[in-house]
Amino acid sequence: MHELPFVMRLLAETDEIARENRMDRIRRIRVEVGALSGIVPECVSLYFESASEGHAAEGAELEFTEDPAILRCAECGREFPHEPGQAHVAGRDPFDCPVCGGPGILVKGTGSGSRLLSVEG
Ligand SMILES: [Zn+2]
Repeated sequence: MHELPFVMRLLAETDEIARENRMDRIRRIRVEVGALSGIVPECVSLYFESASEGHAAEGAELEFTEDPAILRCAECGREFPHEPGQAHVAGRDPFDCPVCGGPGILVKGTGSGSRLLSVEG
């Protein structure tokens, strides 16, 4: 759903970077995806494959890094990343503070954005 506009933005940015740096071809693109952004890396790759045709980044390899949401403990004030998978393994609620077990509150804006990190020609 959100992926196509995101891919179009990536292509516009990479075209711009290629032009500015006189690169004929972009071979690798690093992208940061916010955990709460609703962007699914697999879908980005899929759209990218067809949408990149004719662009500098055509056929480039996409590398994704997840940008986690950050929670702040209401008890001790510590900030920690929201990592549902790891917290589950450790046997605690992913919203609980890893230090004191207090309730974590989402730090506004974290994990919500997705952006281009770097490109390689
Ligand atoms: Zn705490």
